[in-house]
Parts: sequence; structure tokens; C-alpha cells
Amino acid sequence: MAKVLTVGEILVEIVATTKGSGFLEAQPLIGPFPSGAPAIFIDQVGKLGTPCAILGRVGGDDFGQLNLDRLRADGVDVSGVEIAHGETTGSAFVRYREDGSRVFVFNIANAACGTLPATPNGRAVMESCTHMHVMGTALSAPGLAERAMEAIAVVKGNGGTLSFDPNLRPEILGTPGLREALDEVLAQTDLFLPSGDEIFLFTKARTEAEAVAELLARGVGEIVIKRGAEGASHFNAAGRTEAAPIAVEEIDPTGAGDCFGGAFVSFWVNGADPASALAHANAAGARAVTQLGPMEGTSTLAELASLLSASETA
Ligand code: ADP
Repeated sequence: MAKVLTVGEILVEIVATTKGSGFLEAQPLIGPFPSGAPAIFIDQVGKLGTPCAILGRVGGDDFGQLNLDRLRADGVDVSGVEIAHGETTGSAFVRYREDGSRVFVFNIANAACGTLPATPNGRAVMESCTHMHVMGTALSAPGLAERAMEAIAVVKGNGGTLSFDPNLRPEILGTPGLREALDEVLAQTDLFLPSGDEIFLFTKARTEAEAVAELLARGVGEIVIKRGAEGASHFNAAGRTEAAPIAVEEIDPTGAGDCFGGAFVSFWVNGADPASALAHANAAGARAVTQLGPMEGTSTLAELASLLSASETA
């Protein structure tokens, strides 16, 4: 049976309840919410009932416990998550500007999630998985990147598959060694899930169609492009499939791409056809933006089915 693995940061997120320019004055905050792109991704996989695990590190504090409790409740194997007593769980504070863009204050690099030493537990979890999902943020911290690369080698070495969501926030793009790591990962990728224009970070092609054709020719099996409120597209050797956006009220866009990815990968590893995986992932991304809090918008199969049937009859 398929089992999905990811490696990376497990955080809490604290969200300002008012829009504004930033965090320069006192304001009402809400949270903590469980968060971290890989954690949201794997929570979505778990909620859909697909066996899955995450490797990461939390502090021996309430923020770490909050995450472990949520992930466990949603079916994620957290036996490889290290609890670093005496350290602090990573955090992100987010405030929305009037135009909808976000201002983040992160505590990641110097928190428990900033590193991930090798452990026997972690290795056992890697050996138990058949699919690895890697995100750009996991490749941007030296300690984490080493573990992510090890997980890719173990899972692929055992005959498993790899999906890759670049998820490249501007502040990590200049990380030394990141470019090489991204290229090394892409060369082994079976399923590539970039957002918007991210595909152009991996090719010199001028148009999206040329970029897709080039990456398919370079051996990437399938490509899914996430387009925010414009839906998503899937490409493979057989052609192109589109998912039109589902009309929803956007409350909080954080986590939409991770929920989309978790749903797509969950269907994909279980052998669903691309159109079904894409439709369910599109619904997962749409549902995610309707909930305040990054991991609060992960969906069950029943919730996706209900949104899909409502959108078909709308
Ligand atoms: P990322 O967070 O990786 O940039 P996107 O913002 O592109 O990801 O969102 C992922 C997917 O979620 C989109 O491709 C789409 O399917 C869905 N989605 C995101 N925002 C909306 C929205 N406002 N309305 C409907 N669907 C959305």
C-alpha cells in the first residue's frame, strides 16, 4: 500500500485579525494554528485516509504538542518527529496588507525546525514509505536539506516515487546551495507541482507551453501548475487537462497550495486518473482559502465531494 512521506518545517502560525501595513503597532492576534508547508501538505494527505508520515523537529513546548496532536488526529505517522526539549517550536506571524498581500515574521532558522539530525526512527520511517514529497523550504536549510535528500534517496532507491512542490518564497531564493539542490531534485521528479511562474525558475523557455514540453522531455512524468483563483492545469505525455476555479469566498489564502498538493498526491499514489486527482485537488485548494488558519482548511473526502457536487450544480 502507498505511504507518503514529507520532510520539513512544523510551525505555529499567529495571524493578525486586522489588515494593515505590518507589525509596527499592537493589534489583536489569533492563533496559534498548526502550520508549516510540509505539515499542512501531510495533514491533507492524512485527512484523505492515505497512509503518511512527516519527519521534522518541534520544541518541547505547547506549540510542538499542538502540532503533534493535530497531525496524529488526522492520521499522520509522527513517530519520526523529534521533540527537542529545551528548544522552541518554529513560528510565523502573518498580517495581511489592504491589497491582500502578506507580511510575515518568521522564527524558523534558529528554532527547533531549523535542523534535522539523522535518527534511527527517522530512517525507519523513510524505509516504510513508497512516495516522497519535497518542498523548496525543506531544501533551504542545510540540516533539513540533508535529511530531505536522504529521504529521496531511500524512497526512490526502494522503487518509490517523488513529487516536488518548489514553494519558493522570495526570502529563501538566495540560500547558498539551493539552486543545485533544486536541480538535483527536479532530475528525479515524477510529479512536479509549481505555482504560477515558478516553472520558469527551472528552464530558460519563454512560454509556459515550451517550459512544460521541455520538462516532460527532460523526464518529469507529470506537471501540475497551480494558478490561485484561476484554477489549475495538468500536463503529461497524453496532453493537458484543465480545472476551472471553484467560486468560493477567500478568507485566508495561506496553505491553499499545500492542501492542493496533498490532495493531488493522495489521489495520484492511489492510482486515480489525472482528471480526478486534479478535480479533487482544485476543490481542496478552493476549500482551503475559505478557512482562517493555514491547516484549518484541510479537507476530508466527504468535504471535497460536497464542494465538487455543489460547484457542478451551480
Ligand atoms: P500556492 O499557495 O502554492 O501559491 P495557489 O495559490 O495557486 O497555491 O493555490 C493552489 C490551488 O488552490 C489553485 O491552483 C486552485 O486550484 C485553488 N485555489 C487557490 N485560491 C483559490 C481561490 N481564491 N478560488 C478558488 N480556488 C483557489
